[in-house]
Amino acid sequence: MPAMLEPEVETRSADEQFQLDVRHFRRQLAYLVDRSPFYREKLAKAGFPSAEAIGGLDRIADLPFTEKQEIRASCTAENPIGAHLAVPRDQLVRIYSTSGTTGTPSYIPLTRQDLDNWVTTSARSYSASGISAGETIVSTYNAGPFVAGAALAAFDRLGMCHVPVGTGNTERLMAALRLLKPTAVVMTPSYASHLIEWAAERGFDLQSSGVRRVLVAGEPGGGEPAMRARLEAGWGAKVTEAMGIGDIGVSLWGECEERDGMHLGGRGFVYPELIDPATGDALAMEDGASGELVLTHLRHEAAPLLRFRTRDHVTVRTSPCPCGRTALRLHCIGRTDDMLIVRGVNVFPSAIREIVGEFAPTVSGAILVRPATADVSQEPPLPVVVELARAGEPDGGLAERIRERLRAALVFSAAVEFVPFGTLERSEYKSKLVRH
Ligand SMILES: [Zn+2]
Repeated sequence: MPAMLEPEVETRSADEQFQLDVRHFRRQLAYLVDRSPFYREKLAKAGFPSAEAIGGLDRIADLPFTEKQEIRASCTAENPIGAHLAVPRDQLVRIYSTSGTTGTPSYIPLTRQDLDNWVTTSARSYSASGISAGETIVSTYNAGPFVAGAALAAFDRLGMCHVPVGTGNTERLMAALRLLKPTAVVMTPSYASHLIEWAAERGFDLQSSGVRRVLVAGEPGGGEPAMRARLEAGWGAKVTEAMGIGDIGVSLWGECEERDGMHLGGRGFVYPELIDPATGDALAMEDGASGELVLTHLRHEAAPLLRFRTRDHVTVRTSPCPCGRTALRLHCIGRTDDMLIVRGVNVFPSAIREIVGEFAPTVSGAILVRPATADVSQEPPLPVVVELARAGEPDGGLAERIRERLRAALVFSAAVEFVPFGTLERSEYKSKLVRH
C-alpha cells in the first residue's frame, strides 16, 4: 500500500481530531463575527450577538444554516463577491466562479493560505486512491473559471507528472495514453464510460493501455457498484472517486483503495454534519446513516461559510477502514435538488441508474427520467427511459423485471421504455439524468 501523504493527520483518532476542531471552530466563529458582515448580521438575528454567546462545536446545531441563495442575495455592485467576504480584496490570490442559473456568476474567493489548504486537501484525497510520486497522470478537465483548477495542483504537490488534455479532446487523450503511457487518468464517470464505447468502436484496446487507476469526480456514479464494475472492466483498471463542493473546497473527499466510501481529505479544514433535508434536524453520524451533508469551514480566511447546505445526499461509514485512515467516509447518493418524491418516497435518479445498470450487458447503462410535470412530487408510474446496449435485445419480460427490481430496491413504481443504443446523450463532462 503506498505511503500516506500526511500519516499524522490521516490516522489521528476521531476524538483527538474533534478536540482540534473545537479549537479551530471557536477561532473561526470569532473571526466571522469580527470580519464577516454577512455572519455578524445573520448570527445577531439568530440570537447570537457575540462570538461568546455561541456554544462550542457540540452545539453547532443551534446555529442557522447558510444557503447559497443568501450569499447570492448579498452581492452588490460595490461587493460582487458577497457580504461574506471577510478580507480586503488585496488579500485575495484567486477568484473562481460558478456559472449560476441567473447568468450572473457566483464568485469563490481564496487567500494564499486558503488556496494552499485546498491543494493540501486535494492531495490527501487523491493520494488515498494509491497514486504516488513519479507516476504520470492525464487529466481531462477544462478547469477555466471553475474550482477544479485548484484540484489539479494536487498532482504537482504529489510529485506526479501531470498531463492536462482538457475536455472534448478525445483524440488528444487517446494519443497521450498511447504515447506517454500514463498509469492514471482523472475524469468524470460519464466521460470514463463514454470513452469505453469510443475505444470499442475504433478497436482501441483500453484495457492494455497501461492505465491502472481511473480517478473519477465531478458527479455521482463512480461509487455505484454496477457503474464501477462496468468502468473497471472497460478500462482494466481500479476506479476510485473523489468529491468536493465549490463553495467549501475542491476534492474534499477521496476514496482509498478499499473503495468503501470517500474519506474526508479536508480533515481539520472542514467540519461535516448530517441533517434531515426536509426538517433540517441534525442526524447522528452513525455507520449507515443517510441525509444531506452540511459543511462548516474551520480555518478559512477569504469567505468562510458556516453550516453550508451542500444539497448532496450521502450515506456515512464510520467503521474502521483497513487502510488505516481514520477520517469519516461517505458515499454520495445524489443531489437533493435532483430528488423526486413518488408517493412520499424519495427517489434519486442516480439510484435508478444504478439499479438499471445491473441489467448490463443487455442495457447500456444510460437512463433518462422523464417526470410528467416540473414538480418534485410525482404520481406513479414514473417514466424511465432505458437505453439498450449495442447488441441488446429486450426479451418480452425485461421491462417487467426492471420495474420489479426498481420497486423492490427503491420502493416506487416505474414505467420503463426502451430506446436503441446511442439514443441518449453522451457527455464528456456530466450526464443529465432528468428531463422534465
Ligand atoms: Zn480507507
